[in-house]
Amino acid sequence: MFYLATDARPDRPTRRCWECDTENPAKEGRCARCEAPLTTRRFLLSSRWDAASFAAYEAYHALRLEHPGLFTPVDVFRDRNQLFSVVPYSGEGLMLDEAAPLPSDRVLDLGQRVAGTIAFLHHKGVRLKKVTPANLIISRDNSVRLFDLDVLDVGEGHVPDEARQAELPSLGSMLRRYCDVEAVDLQSFMAGVWDGTYASPAAFGRALEKELDAFSSMPATPTLAGMTDVGLVRQLNEDNWGWRKLSSRARLFVVADGMGGHDGGEVASALAVETICRIAEEREKARPVGLDALEQLFDDAFQAANNTIKDHAEAKGNDMGTTLVSMLLLEGNTALVANVGDSRAYLIRDRELHQVTRDHSLVAKMVERGRITAEEARTHPHSNILLRTVGTERDVDIDIFRVDLQPGDRVLMCSDGLWGEVEDRDLQQILNTYADPRVAVRELVKAAHHGGGKDNVTVVLVGIP
Ligand code: CA
Repeated sequence: MFYLATDARPDRPTRRCWECDTENPAKEGRCARCEAPLTTRRFLLSSRWDAASFAAYEAYHALRLEHPGLFTPVDVFRDRNQLFSVVPYSGEGLMLDEAAPLPSDRVLDLGQRVAGTIAFLHHKGVRLKKVTPANLIISRDNSVRLFDLDVLDVGEGHVPDEARQAELPSLGSMLRRYCDVEAVDLQSFMAGVWDGTYASPAAFGRALEKELDAFSSMPATPTLAGMTDVGLVRQLNEDNWGWRKLSSRARLFVVADGMGGHDGGEVASALAVETICRIAEEREKARPVGLDALEQLFDDAFQAANNTIKDHAEAKGNDMGTTLVSMLLLEGNTALVANVGDSRAYLIRDRELHQVTRDHSLVAKMVERGRITAEEARTHPHSNILLRTVGTERDVDIDIFRVDLQPGDRVLMCSDGLWGEVEDRDLQQILNTYADPRVAVRELVKAAHHGGGKDNVTVVLVGIP
């Protein structure tokens, strides 16, 4: 949770000078003692609830580290079971508010900066649990700095060599997600971070440097965008999304909405996205001919995701599952759209929004049978009961829809955190207002916040050039 705070206190007759601590009359522009300007200062506060992590964060703060890649807190304090971290704020942006894709040179620059900063932290004995977009702040000159770190521990001396890989998988998957679907080489380069190719962030940073020239000329395609957001109420984002160029003729897009609480839902949705992309890519190598064969490829990929999650859940002894909506976009603009659960795909054609998928939920069934209206379904007490999910049973039935897309069409895939908060006519209006897909998905997420932001929200928007 982030808060903006200022030192403007209209309730107080005096204002304290930041330079010399002198109290001055509130209306004065300069300090009477040291003549420093008495301007209003703004601060960004971030709060955390996980009490087990407080001591590590306080130990990190006590080091007062200075590094161009770090946005170091000026204060850290506990209040009502929360730990607050305070940084001076002068209009920086949050990486959380950025939609993918980013231009390839920006992804590489981001990777280099973050890897370099983690290498510095290791040198000072600080290890992180992970790196996510929530840890990144964007300065007004577009440079990115780490802040509000997820500190694992602070040790004496350097982090030992064998413990320097811990942050790399999360860094790699974050960077990979910002890669354009066409940036296949860059995506597979980032996947190397997962495979243990690099011994440390420093080694990864050096490898990135070599790649900068090779990749930096690639532009981001402005026809598609993806974004996920935790919402305003929940502490955990269990949604996930991904895209993958399977071959020169096929691209895959996925949105998954996991369920099962901590270490359940977020694992299920991540496994679903990863498995469906990997299996589809493998099957596509045989170049199946005809739509029936491609439907089979899609079904295989869904079943593989299903069984992977089921296996994982049984091994861990907990319940987890996920919804899944996915589009296989083929050359000639034929698309197969498949879904399980209540994450949806919509087609936007000639400024009109059409729902492609059908929800596998109790209320959707009740609407189909005429028991309740679509309007009543939105607020029905059983609106969250799903009839089908991925990962809960051994076999899963999937619905597949064939869609012939036309130039100018757009396909929106989203979790119920979007459509549950924003009515279809408002979705349509937003999509018709913002032509840039990265802006459109941000506006859709904002609209979900305005609707209440009760759930995680994930949006993938794909335009047909
Ligand atoms: Ca949801």
